Amino acid sequence: MKALHDLGVLELATAIAAKQTSSVEAAQHLLARAKQFASLGAYLAFNEEATLAQARAADARVAAGERTPLLGVPLAHKDIFVTKDFPTTAGSKMLAGYQSPFDATVVQRLAAQGAVSLGKLNCDEFAMGSGNDNSAFGPVQNPWDVTRVPGGSSGGSAAAVAARLMPAATGTDTGGSIRQPASFTGITGIKPTYGRCSRYGMVAFASSLDQAGPMARSAADCAALLTAMAGPDIDRDSTSLDHPAEDYSAAIGRPREGATAARPLKGLRIGLPAEFFGAGCAPDVLSAVRAALAEYEKLGATLVDISLPRTELSIPVYYIIAPAEASSNLSRFDGVKFGHRAAKYDDLLDMYKKSRSEAFGPEVQRRIMIGTYVLSHGYYDAYYLKAQQIRRLIAQDFQSAFERCDLIAGPVAPTVAWKIGEKSDDPMANYLADIYTLSTSLAGLPGMSVPAGFGVGGMPVGLQLVGNYFKEGELLHAAHAFQQATDWHSRSPSGFGS
Ligand code: GLN
Repeated sequence: MKALHDLGVLELATAIAAKQTSSVEAAQHLLARAKQFASLGAYLAFNEEATLAQARAADARVAAGERTPLLGVPLAHKDIFVTKDFPTTAGSKMLAGYQSPFDATVVQRLAAQGAVSLGKLNCDEFAMGSGNDNSAFGPVQNPWDVTRVPGGSSGGSAAAVAARLMPAATGTDTGGSIRQPASFTGITGIKPTYGRCSRYGMVAFASSLDQAGPMARSAADCAALLTAMAGPDIDRDSTSLDHPAEDYSAAIGRPREGATAARPLKGLRIGLPAEFFGAGCAPDVLSAVRAALAEYEKLGATLVDISLPRTELSIPVYYIIAPAEASSNLSRFDGVKFGHRAAKYDDLLDMYKKSRSEAFGPEVQRRIMIGTYVLSHGYYDAYYLKAQQIRRLIAQDFQSAFERCDLIAGPVAPTVAWKIGEKSDDPMANYLADIYTLSTSLAGLPGMSVPAGFGVGGMPVGLQLVGNYFKEGELLHAAHAFQQATDWHSRSPSGFGS
């Protein structure tokens, strides 16, 4: 058997079910590994006692003959999901020491399937960022090159999975935060259709965009996790969609009509938006993406040229709408109901001001200012309303494109992971790097990142696949077929595999 940390989700569940190992043994091994690689900065919190209690409970379920695809598998959650066994900070000083009395729906659903929680993972403050360098608790390192960022905002999740600290983790994606860190660390991640996973218990950043999803090493593992995570939760999240739960593991194994063993994707039309393949994308990224697309052709897919003409506008539109919603969501952190309270103040207003100035980091303060500005009387029509109108047009562009193709493909990000600190003082440089992920989020469509090779500095490159609403099964199927024919997703950074 491979080393425990080299096993994926399904492999580990199979080994636990076959009693080749136990959930307790796997959890202890991974907790020790977390300590060994603490310098990556991936974790924010542990609770060994709670983890081992969950693992013992899973082992008891195994002993009683129960089988689920996740039973006994240790994983960890982005620190944006509230958890009753671990503190939750959302990467912010504002919530330092906060203890939730309940678990987020996604956390609860994974636990119900027998997954064991190892702890909480570092992220950009309130999920705002593209490099995980906006966390109040320090940056996260990319295991492929520890001088580089792992991407953001789910950087702790991505680094931990890539470094084999756990077979999978949860993430959230508001404008790319599952796909881009997955791409930067050579793992697989999927952001489902908006509303597919419950937002209940997810610390809110931009409510009309926030969506949870799994990050793992393979599409097959993501499928197993998403099956557990997704599904309606309308009583607790009014934006949760009343769409029946689906079995994504079954979806990836279901052959396409007319497919053959050699050409499993026969008949699949993949649209390539001209705007994603222009001069803005680095040549090393483009060549890895093109090689992956050539592989897709070999698997039977046809490539179709399409256009998403408003791609460039997705940056200003997103950076108006997301801060607008953030400024409203973050108003609850006033030092009274939630969050840090300044030690000394003169009166109520002074208390708000000092508490918020002390506890919110610079990027969060910047977004609150942008958000309140674009929502203010006199600017609302010029900025917020205009952005909402263009958002609708961006969504329509995708629908026109889907008349000619089944999936859309392109790069996830214009470059490989950059050096830690390189863009820290340049918010615009961070915003521009989100160009290929924002439009999918604005349209509410599902998207994923699939490891597709390596670029400059030996850094991983991800291929982005985008589907129409509720086409997660089709996306995962196409990613799985690619992963059956390639091994990019099973490479580990040197020093972190066995
Ligand atoms: N990089 C984008 C931002 O900073 C997206 C973040 C996210 O998806 N949470 O807002």
